[in-house]
Amino acid sequence: MSTRKVTSPGLLERLENGAVICAEGYLFELERRGYIQAGAFVPEVVLDHPEKVYELHREFVHAGSDVVEAFTYYGHREKLRVIGKEELLEPLNRNALQIAADVADESGALLAGNICNTNIWQPDNQSTHAAARGMFEEQVGWAVDGGVDFIIGETFCWVEEALAALQVIQAADKPSVITFALDADCLHDGVDGVTACKQLADAGADVVGLNCSRGPATMLPVVEEIRAAVSCHVAALPVPYRTTADVPTFQLLHDASCSCTADIGTFPTALDPFVCNRYEIAEFAKKVHTKGINYVGLCCGAGPHHVRSMAEALGRTPPASRYSPDMSKHAYQGTDENIPDYYKNLGKMYE
Ligand SMILES: [Zn+2]
Repeated sequence: MSTRKVTSPGLLERLENGAVICAEGYLFELERRGYIQAGAFVPEVVLDHPEKVYELHREFVHAGSDVVEAFTYYGHREKLRVIGKEELLEPLNRNALQIAADVADESGALLAGNICNTNIWQPDNQSTHAAARGMFEEQVGWAVDGGVDFIIGETFCWVEEALAALQVIQAADKPSVITFALDADCLHDGVDGVTACKQLADAGADVVGLNCSRGPATMLPVVEEIRAAVSCHVAALPVPYRTTADVPTFQLLHDASCSCTADIGTFPTALDPFVCNRYEIAEFAKKVHTKGINYVGLCCGAGPHHVRSMAEALGRTPPASRYSPDMSKHAYQGTDENIPDYYKNLGKMYE
């Protein structure tokens, strides 16, 4: 058992009193930084370069995240089997949890365990259900050993798989956040996102909602419907990309202006032209907050500047706000009395 003290106030108490921000997107950010391989997307970085994981956790908390999510996403048995390194499964999970616990404890943030889609689930194949449940049990067991405050089960595309994850979290007696990755209008099993969340809420999930796949514009209308359909807390963690009604998910975005990605496609390594700016993220945060959606965050593609904008939009001043933009001191565009008039005049070329 863990000797870690639970964080106070806890997740549910914080949600009763306002927003909880959870920064995600570790896979994409550490891939960009050169410490994770796109494709398998296995977080070996927690063993190979733990200092980089510490750094990113700290950057997200500095920017306003209330949660440090242990980086065990895709650190499950199936993913490690695919890359031929199952022997790393337990040390990877335990290291990820220790790193996250250290940052949570030094900052007062909540510590979250993490499980996700197993990539083995098949609806009519009972043996895959048992194997998936086993994968959840071993990861949840390590998370409990690591002293987590709550457990996130995310990016599910099958309702039954999400329900199995929820049951394992409930058996461990931890608060649960269950989110679906809604690619098309429906999940793989043909259930729409609202009905799926309602089923999870009815089964006792503490927080239900969506994460990943959809950008702010195409996640917002669905989470509003979810908010109206359930009585528990609702989560909204979009990817920071400009998805549209015609192209609702980031997997479908296609960059027609770039011929060099014609063969490989835009997702996941060439999405740069579609990244939302920080102001669009602030707008999303304000909108969901006024709708009573209190568990907010960002997924794949997010950087600390997005997280800070989200926090500030919710009325926070995280430590990173010390460095929020102040264009009054800009050499050409500034209005400050210390900027020479000659340069202010030169700055008119920007107008
Ligand atoms: Zn994601």
